[in-house]
Amino acid sequence: MTDGITALKTALPATAWTQDADIIAPHLVEWRDKYQGETPLMLTPRSTAEVSEAVKICAAHGLKIVPQGGNTGLVGGQTPQGEVLLSLKKMTVIRDVDIINNAMIVEAGATLQSVHDAADAANTQFPLFLASQGSCTIGGNLSTNAGGNHVLKYGTTKDLVFGVEAVLASGEIYNGLTSLRKDNTGYDLSRLFLGAEGTLGIITAASLKLFPKAGYTQRVIAAVDDPAQALKLLETCRAGGRLSMFEVMPRIGLNAVVKNIDGQREPFDAPHPWYVVIDWDVETESEGAALAKTLLVKAFEKDFIRDAVIAQNETQAAQILSLRENMSSGQKFLGGSIKFDITVPLNTIPEFFKKADAAMEAQIPGCRPVGFGHFGDGNIHYNIAQPVGMNKQKFLDHWQAVSETVFDIVGEFGGSISAEHGIGIMKKEDLAKRADPVKLAMLKSIKQALDPENIMNPRVML
Ligand SMILES: Cc1cc2nc3c(=O)[nH]c(=O)nc-3n(C[C@H](O)[C@H](O)[C@H](O)COP(=O)(O)OP(=O)(O)OC[C@H]3O[C@@H](n4cnc5c(N)ncnc54)[C@H](O)[C@@H]3O)c2cc1C
Repeated sequence: MTDGITALKTALPATAWTQDADIIAPHLVEWRDKYQGETPLMLTPRSTAEVSEAVKICAAHGLKIVPQGGNTGLVGGQTPQGEVLLSLKKMTVIRDVDIINNAMIVEAGATLQSVHDAADAANTQFPLFLASQGSCTIGGNLSTNAGGNHVLKYGTTKDLVFGVEAVLASGEIYNGLTSLRKDNTGYDLSRLFLGAEGTLGIITAASLKLFPKAGYTQRVIAAVDDPAQALKLLETCRAGGRLSMFEVMPRIGLNAVVKNIDGQREPFDAPHPWYVVIDWDVETESEGAALAKTLLVKAFEKDFIRDAVIAQNETQAAQILSLRENMSSGQKFLGGSIKFDITVPLNTIPEFFKKADAAMEAQIPGCRPVGFGHFGDGNIHYNIAQPVGMNKQKFLDHWQAVSETVFDIVGEFGGSISAEHGIGIMKKEDLAKRADPVKLAMLKSIKQALDPENIMNPRVML
């Protein structure tokens, strides 16, 4: 180990590594304070060549590597436990914005926000929207196959990329930076790195797909009785094919946000059991207002909506979205929280809520389900807040038992135990236990083929 660390420090420029504990410290804790890491060395390469050089030395000395982007991952995959930490934070160059091919080549450490800004400056858009976009990086988004708020229109990150450049476990560089829309020349190798959570190699750059900007986005917040009504509203809102976002929030979550987060306001005069934030991408403001009115009137007539506010301007639209984006922050004020990121077929969401809520009450009486999120994709962040007054740690000790219950119910509905956050450390055992054995064997074969010495993020996923 010491020889390898010395070799890295000798071969790489002084700008490409640090052992300064103060600089490294923020990279060893993560957003949920669930994982605390340690590392003998943090690498901060500035180029693909430096990443390649570093990986070759690690491979030669048997050093294991954990890649890290913006450190916003929610399953512990970016936190080293004694491995070398390789941060992409200095690889932030937007290499090219190519309007003719609708493609953009960016380095892996570029934040999602900086990619949005560069696309916006060229009057186009990269349509991946996450609350963490100011910090998360394209490399992290690709490695976790991030989802976000507009998946129902544009798909997940996998659908937004032509190909990647990646440094393999051998240190060789795979160049898949194409903008070809058709290329049937064997396996789609770039895809292997998408959702791989750093276990197959280090993504150093990506060729992203660009899309025309909507002329105008019409936003609405609606109030409904329950998830069954939300599902009916979703069907209505899809008419015309303009729907781009459909997010739900329960009253308990919205209440925690407006009570505890600065600048947040109740959207209606009276409280309602559930809220839905809806976007339609249209050409003009007047088209948006007319579409929203027509569809909401239909919903009122059929009696599955309690109230609605149509955003009249950008400020109001931003205030509405801010309620949804603060759902996670607001929940911190409810005490301990056991969190799930699950997906089920859309038609089963109401039944999922009924069954899971009842099971939670039976398992921990008084606990408070806070299921919110990307309803339009069937993706619910099904979080359970502790009962009022219960000791936080005592509550969190139920995490594994509660997981078994929730994942059993997800399985009954044909859902997935990880919709968009990945497996990481958190769900590794659940994957091993619940995945189809053929799928698990295939995952392991691919890992073995590309990283036979298991140096790439070795404790994650498999
Ligand atoms: C407030 C908040 C809101 C969020 N909302 C969403 C949401 O709506 N949808 C969603 O999908 N996620 C969401 N997330 C989770 C998180 O932002 C995403 O998973 C994001 O894609 C992680 O990017 P990152 O750069 O922070 O990656 P990190 O956290 O640094 O890393 C995540 C994983 O990717 C690997 N990795 C990182 N960079 C590379 C690379 N260049 N090459 C190889 N492997 C790499 C790491 O080893 C780790 O396994 C949210 C997180 C927060 C804190």
